[in-house]
Amino acid sequence: MQALPKPTGRYEDFVDCCLPCLNEKLGANFCAIPARGIQPENSERDRHFPSVVIPSVARDLKLTVPHTVRVEQRGDYLDFQLNDEQLHLKKTVREFAEREIAPNVMKWDEAGEFPLTTIKELGKLGLLGIIFPPEYGGAGMGYVEYVTAIAELSRIDGSVGIIVAAHTSLCSNHIYVAGSEAQKKKYVSKLATGEYIGAWGLTEPSAGSDAGSARMTAARAKGGWVLNGTKTFITNGHYADAVVVLAITDRAAHTHGLSAFVVEKGTKGFRPGKKENKLGLRASDTAELIFEDCFLPDENLLGKEGGGFVDAMRVLDGGRISIAALSLGMAEGAYGAALKYSKERQQFGKAISEFQAIQWKLADMATEIEAAKLLTLRAAAMKDAGMKTTMESSMAKLYASEVAVRCANEGVQIHGGYGFIKDYPAEKFYRDVKLCTIGEGTSEIQRLVIARELLKD
Ligand SMILES: Cc1cc2nc3c(=O)[nH]c(=O)nc-3n(C[C@H](O)[C@H](O)[C@H](O)COP(=O)(O)OP(=O)(O)OC[C@H]3O[C@@H](n4cnc5c(N)ncnc54)[C@H](O)[C@@H]3O)c2cc1C
Repeated sequence: MQALPKPTGRYEDFVDCCLPCLNEKLGANFCAIPARGIQPENSERDRHFPSVVIPSVARDLKLTVPHTVRVEQRGDYLDFQLNDEQLHLKKTVREFAEREIAPNVMKWDEAGEFPLTTIKELGKLGLLGIIFPPEYGGAGMGYVEYVTAIAELSRIDGSVGIIVAAHTSLCSNHIYVAGSEAQKKKYVSKLATGEYIGAWGLTEPSAGSDAGSARMTAARAKGGWVLNGTKTFITNGHYADAVVVLAITDRAAHTHGLSAFVVEKGTKGFRPGKKENKLGLRASDTAELIFEDCFLPDENLLGKEGGGFVDAMRVLDGGRISIAALSLGMAEGAYGAALKYSKERQQFGKAISEFQAIQWKLADMATEIEAAKLLTLRAAAMKDAGMKTTMESSMAKLYASEVAVRCANEGVQIHGGYGFIKDYPAEKFYRDVKLCTIGEGTSEIQRLVIARELLKD
């Protein structure tokens, strides 16, 4: 193996200096994070940096990412090298999206057609249960793999991205984190394989950002509960076989009086209502869910009575990473289309990519996309390491969604008039990305969440 180059010149004092001695000489606190797959015994770098500390936070957790890593504080957590398995997954999803989704994107968009057959195919490929263990029909992978798949799907069609995201990290994951063993076996197994489509209902007509002010009720009845109320803007509403909804079980207890329930399609008293006619993501289904004296047996209560809101916030920690990935994929799609077009379009006798004004746009887009990717993958890697990611999920979602909106806007600009017509993909990205600064908490709410975490003692 070739030796790593040694520091020279004014750094000569540090030649052959191991990490602790380097830190001592510099009064610094650098930490070594070996790349995945490099084993200590065969790594030249590990000969130079032998004293890697295993952090208490990581030691007690089942890390799917680096097993020898020093975490001094949350911002230090950094390892974004995709391994061979993850790269294979990325390639597989990209090829599937380009082959099966790309040719249909505009047809589905114009018709507002839900791509049910394609979603079922994704289930067969194992892409609807990436984050769940095999005993519940999942692929046994983590959020790094999950966000990689969502971004690749969304690079071609954000509608498919949001369908998979709402299904997986909202509906299925709520059942997985809060459900009983019987509920996990009954529902997650079917959702993870695509036998069931899932939806998750928190928002109500008068309770959006202020989700805790929900009005839908679940009243005690013999052997169960009776639900009354309406949920609004629910992704997959008309196609869902299983829906997780939150309802008030104790009004006096405010957010601690909200409980979650799982409801199956066809349950008496439950029906999807109005299908929304949307600006973008038109192939995804966004619907009202109506509950009128809908009786559910006790076994449909999900998690503890009164624990629904807290569980929903935990679920959103993961869900927001998936919206970051949705944003990232669409930003990459908009950027890729603009880059290609800028090299093809000739004006004033040359490709428009030769104009500095266009180059600066491309440079800004690419730089911001890289930053969004790092925030998204870091939040995902922290989640896989079992760390709390409330702030990091919100940061990733806030930044990636706003980058996606800027990239889609510049993408249209680079296309000029052709960016405004439907023969090119720029206009669709422009319409689709806006949802990312709104769904699963608006940008304003993400800033509130981040500030609240920053100001905690
Ligand atoms: C396509 C689509 C899919 C969706 N899918 C789902 C789903 O599957 N499940 C689900 O439960 N919900 C879903 N939603 C709902 C979505 O999460 C809400 O739209 C979102 O949380 C915002 O709520 P709202 O629309 O009621 O806006 P409001 O809460 O009324 O906000 C209006 C404006 O006021 C601002 N605002 C509100 N409160 C504050 C504050 N305290 N400080 C500063 N500004 C504030 C907001 O940021 C926003 O700019 C979906 C929405 C859409 C459009």
